[in-house]
Amino acid sequence: MKDEKRDVRHEKLKTIRDRVVNLKDSTLYSFRNENEYLPVIGQGDHYAEIMFIGEAPGESEAKSGVPFCGRAGKVLDELLQSINIPREEVYITNIVKDRPPQNRDPSPEEIALYAPFLDEQIEIIEPKVIATLGRFSMEYILKRYGLEDKIEPISKIHGQLVKANFKYGDVFITPLYHPAVALYNAGQKETLIEDFKNIKKALS
Ligand code: URA
Repeated sequence: MKDEKRDVRHEKLKTIRDRVVNLKDSTLYSFRNENEYLPVIGQGDHYAEIMFIGEAPGESEAKSGVPFCGRAGKVLDELLQSINIPREEVYITNIVKDRPPQNRDPSPEEIALYAPFLDEQIEIIEPKVIATLGRFSMEYILKRYGLEDKIEPISKIHGQLVKANFKYGDVFITPLYHPAVALYNAGQKETLIEDFKNIKKALS
């Protein structure tokens, strides 16, 4: 029974991948093909209790198809180690699944086009904690789940656990700084380490 259920999740996530692969409506589609990049759909346990949501893939990610495998990804790995959670046990994805040129911020149109895939990933995986990495995913997720009144600058809201009621049950949303900030600011790495401890608290 459990294996059958696992297959259902796997199949549903595969159809998301197939649809993103063929997303010709995206302005990022031709950039992907010209550079022989891959879309970055997501990676991890389809039964993960924790989902991390970043912004959009960088170059290393677009070359490999793996989220957070570049420099920011190394920081994310360290943060996960700091709370003893193996990367394989969480699910990691982004709002926008293709790399924007020059690592620019994703546009509102790109977010609107790709976000429904993220919504589906959440409904399939049913995480208990959603950790948003950076302001784009924080704003999207809080708005999406009717919590726009909670939106604040990330410097104020980071590390909080915001309780939300999803179709499948209660979820804690925790807005976090994007791990890339730690590459340039050691103080913010300490902040991320502290905030990660709350992820564990949310699960206990
Ligand atoms: N930054 C992101 O937001 N996502 C990635 O996958 C890599 C870097």
